[in-house]
Amino acid sequence: MHFKDIVGQSHLKSRLIQTVNAGRISHAQLFVGKSGYGSLPLAIAYAQFVACKNKQKEDSCGTCSSCIKFNKLVHPDLHFSFPVSTTSSIKAKPVSDDFIKDWRALNIENPYFDLEEWHKTIGIEQKQSLINVAESQAIIKKLNLKAFESEFKFLLIWKPENLNAQASNKLLKLIEEPVGKTIIILIAEDEEMLLKTITSRTQMIRVPPIEAIEIVKYLSNKKQVGEERAQQIAVLSEGDVLRAEEKVHVSEDSEMDFELFASWMRGCYEANIEKMHAWVEQVSDRKFGRERQKQFLEYALEVMREGMIRNYAGTSLQRFDGAEGNFLKKFAPFVHENNVFGIMEILNDAHYHVSRNAYAKILFMDMSMKFANLLRVKKRTFVS
Ligand SMILES: [Zn+2]
Repeated sequence: MHFKDIVGQSHLKSRLIQTVNAGRISHAQLFVGKSGYGSLPLAIAYAQFVACKNKQKEDSCGTCSSCIKFNKLVHPDLHFSFPVSTTSSIKAKPVSDDFIKDWRALNIENPYFDLEEWHKTIGIEQKQSLINVAESQAIIKKLNLKAFESEFKFLLIWKPENLNAQASNKLLKLIEEPVGKTIIILIAEDEEMLLKTITSRTQMIRVPPIEAIEIVKYLSNKKQVGEERAQQIAVLSEGDVLRAEEKVHVSEDSEMDFELFASWMRGCYEANIEKMHAWVEQVSDRKFGRERQKQFLEYALEVMREGMIRNYAGTSLQRFDGAEGNFLKKFAPFVHENNVFGIMEILNDAHYHVSRNAYAKILFMDMSMKFANLLRVKKRTFVS
């Protein structure tokens, strides 16, 4: 991990570089800041810089023997501890090393992630994770070894908030009586969750929110988000890369929902079996996934509701504008008292069945056929 790969944080980066160049390297440090501010990649880049054999002015060199191993996070003097749990393959006393391959892969792919994503990566979504006492014993063993290649041994502890009490006490001992030349870096979001005895013995480095302008650059260069949208998202994400990425996904999803919905309704109204079939293939694709199917059905319900409101109350909920608004103006007349209850029932039923593992292709084709009929039902003219 290089400083240059970190989003923003230029002040903090140069401060860290200065301290290393001045030989002020504290043996116990606490990086505090949200995951989306980049505290973990900063800590890794810092360790890589300390260990680099050919330090450049603003970064590690990337090509010395130390950097080559750091780039893959396999340097023998670089150790990680992070929360883990038992899984179907690790049945008891799980330690970080059991999951180190997943950890490296995730960090190399994208070092901006949170505990939730880490849980997903190792398949423990439903569980609590901990840094337990078995882990702290493993740490002590490792740190008692002499440094192999670097002047220092590094121990990076991610989410020390999840240390259990026993492990916290062992860690405290390590911080009080470091073995050899060891640099321990705790990477936390909330220092209040740590033992005071630990925080008081570490040098605290606050990782601040990322400058909005840097988030804009990141979104437009790395995520291909348009300039204007990137600026809106940057303001809303409050310096947090993870929040910014989430907002990008949400807006991509809702744009896709609209396009899907419009093409579905066109296919159904024309009763064009070929189009309906192609559409069904698209939404039942496994890549699309059950959660997205549910989200899409919720979107469809909302559009139908909005159609009714526009149709009968002559007002709108203001949620839909731009292309969606134009579409709705034309679509609303097709949703009326003679078909809306049937439509809503079909969508609600489908939502229920998708949640219960229904076979998506059959479900969506069946719905499309029903809609083809319902959309052609005429609005009744009341004759007295
Ligand atoms: Zn280097």
